[in-house]
Amino acid sequence: MAHPDEVRALARSLTQRLDGLAGWGLKAIPVSRRSATQPDAMASIEHEVIACTRCPLYRTRTHHVFGEGNPNARLVFVGEAPGREEDLQGRPFVGAAGGLLTKMIEAIGLSREEVYICNVLKDRPPGNRTPEPSEIEACLPFLERQLALIQPQVICTLGAIPSKALLGPHVAITKIRGQVYEYDGIPLVPTFHPAYLLRNPSAKRLVWQDLKTVKKLLETLGS
Ligand code: URA
Repeated sequence: MAHPDEVRALARSLTQRLDGLAGWGLKAIPVSRRSATQPDAMASIEHEVIACTRCPLYRTRTHHVFGEGNPNARLVFVGEAPGREEDLQGRPFVGAAGGLLTKMIEAIGLSREEVYICNVLKDRPPGNRTPEPSEIEACLPFLERQLALIQPQVICTLGAIPSKALLGPHVAITKIRGQVYEYDGIPLVPTFHPAYLLRNPSAKRLVWQDLKTVKKLLETLGS
């Protein structure tokens, strides 16, 4: 615990600084919207996800999978939808594909805790089937709001579904991967889904190139 003298000294120095700012005509201290309201805003989106009945997937899920990681992340990974393991644990990318995603994140010098990981769909499609367009349409506003809150410097979409969801339905992942697109003013790099890499390990070479593009963007944009 701080000594009372230290607290008094801190209070004195704060008062002096505030007086100094007032001298510049400052009438209020702007509090960053991000740090003050972001955790509450994120929690309120999650509560809406929990209560959501916009598509039938809430009936068959075990847990919703909202997303996890740093809410102020510089980099966000967006996948397709929770699989079996994610549905059981309520966390994104914790199955076999998740293990590979963790390695991809670490390959560019980051950790899962530093980035944010989420999906287009927040509930598992039964049997891991491909999401229906109506399910994507119903769930996409949640992802859009998550991204608007986090305001990352870079988004990396994993596979066709999140790439189409954020860039438009006509893009083909094999054609666009590794290029820098823009979503809402944020650089977006599409790459292959880690589940695809598990089936096609030779594509890891291409994904490594895409990840290097992500890393360079982060370096260029700074902290
Ligand atoms: N595949 C995804 O797209 N998302 C997950 O969370 C897990 C596997």
